[in-house]
Amino acid sequence: MSFELRDRDLLGRIGRLNTKGGAVETPAFMPVINPVSQVLPPKRMREEFGCEILITNSYIIKKHFGNLPDLKVHQLLDYDGVITTDSGAYQILVYGGVETSPDEIIRFQQSIGSDIAVILDIPTGWNVPREKVEWTVEETLRRAEAALPLIEGDDTLWVGPVQGGAHLDLVERSAQRVGKMPFPIHALGSPTEVMENYRFNVLVDMIMAAKRNLPPDRPFHLFGAGHPMMFSLAVALGCDLFDSAAYALYAKAGRYLTTLRTMKLKDLSYLPCSCPICRKYGADELKGMIKGERVKALTEHNLHVTMAEMETVKQAIVEGTLWELMEARSRGHPALASAVKGLFKYRDFLERGSPSYKGRGVFIFDSMGLARPEVTRHLRRLEEQFIPSLNQKKVVLIPAPPKRPYNKTQEYRSLERRLRNELDDSENVQICFYSAPFGVTPAELSETYPLSQFEIADPPDIETLIFTAENIATFVAETDSKTVILISGGDELDKWVTARCEQVCEEKGREIEVISCPDAWSEETLNELLSILKRSGKGVV
Ligand SMILES: [Zn+2]
Repeated sequence: MSFELRDRDLLGRIGRLNTKGGAVETPAFMPVINPVSQVLPPKRMREEFGCEILITNSYIIKKHFGNLPDLKVHQLLDYDGVITTDSGAYQILVYGGVETSPDEIIRFQQSIGSDIAVILDIPTGWNVPREKVEWTVEETLRRAEAALPLIEGDDTLWVGPVQGGAHLDLVERSAQRVGKMPFPIHALGSPTEVMENYRFNVLVDMIMAAKRNLPPDRPFHLFGAGHPMMFSLAVALGCDLFDSAAYALYAKAGRYLTTLRTMKLKDLSYLPCSCPICRKYGADELKGMIKGERVKALTEHNLHVTMAEMETVKQAIVEGTLWELMEARSRGHPALASAVKGLFKYRDFLERGSPSYKGRGVFIFDSMGLARPEVTRHLRRLEEQFIPSLNQKKVVLIPAPPKRPYNKTQEYRSLERRLRNELDDSENVQICFYSAPFGVTPAELSETYPLSQFEIADPPDIETLIFTAENIATFVAETDSKTVILISGGDELDKWVTARCEQVCEEKGREIEVISCPDAWSEETLNELLSILKRSGKGVV
């Protein structure tokens, strides 16, 4: 197998991609190298910036150097890392066509010794009529099929691209069909314009449409993605390879990349970075340079920031903090934040693909965190495993005590003691704590990850309160228990929970006993609880 997984967090993974030119660790950013002119020599990129893999364009190489005898791409670029070659598809997108054929460019990439290579697909582009989109999908699939006999047994890793643009049904169809072909790597075409227009929510939909329909064990390349602000999001969704010329193009346009946004050098009074360039020069010095030097310095800074962010993402995967990193980066732009908010609709898919335990507490800052796999997983387990066990029991819902684990607190221990001493059927009473954002925590599961290992920024925002109340009401609606007692203290959450539970019970025509009190754990409240439990005692089957 050419791709081995080392670590995972969310759908993101650290992998080792074995190519004939060497192994590379993913997720990896591949700087786009113009084979004709380079601001930074590829050799320096490897030695000083840690670029173990890059991407260049075989079509441009063929046009400029195609008649040189024994042409090899590693020698041409003077680079001994892993080289990916693209096929000229981008030129089709920009210029409308290329002077080569799909077969010819496959043979050319084989002859120059590309480690990873792309068939000549047809990029869908942006804002094109649906018939045109369908044609790009079908023609790319036809070319992928036709490429198979030419690349069979080849030690180059061939990329099978997915097209379809923002037409998600077509992205799905494209992914399903190319995923059945024996390509070791897949890629998603046409996201560049989506990203340039800051349509990150559309990008998320496109990535999800492709990922849900491709074999998960194959590396996934996001074509033309290279802004460090979106790496954590794209990696969290399972993208492994990135390529872009943004680091160089932005430098030419006087733009300075950061992990949160793009800034104009002319607007900078300070350089918020500690790369060698930003340590050596001040903002004014950089502005005062002659153009060629300034572009070179900005190119270096932009590449440093880009490479460093990928390291940050990998460290977050190891730690299990990729979600937190993604949320933090999403604060750089509202469009990125809405894309992260949009992950809520993919929470089941995210949960199924995410590792279950990363050995670390979960931080919930606001409602963005409600789509976290830990939350989804808890709710699913409650529904599948816990609720069915309740029908013989009397269920008590009580606001969680202030400390965790809830079942080890003094408050709970004294309640437990009273239940044992004062009831004949205390084993039939199920105490469930409730709190945001996990909703119901059965007492005996209080120490299960992550129910005692999370922190939430108090007070929870309104969306989190509504979400939590909704899930508790669903719990009440789904249990077959004959007796449900809800203790409602003075907190905002308690009010939401009470209102929703009463509403659900009225709709379903079932009983719920509510004890309203300012302090859920006071002596008086517990006295009342005990007297209700005694009253409902013998009658319960
Ligand atoms: Zn810098």
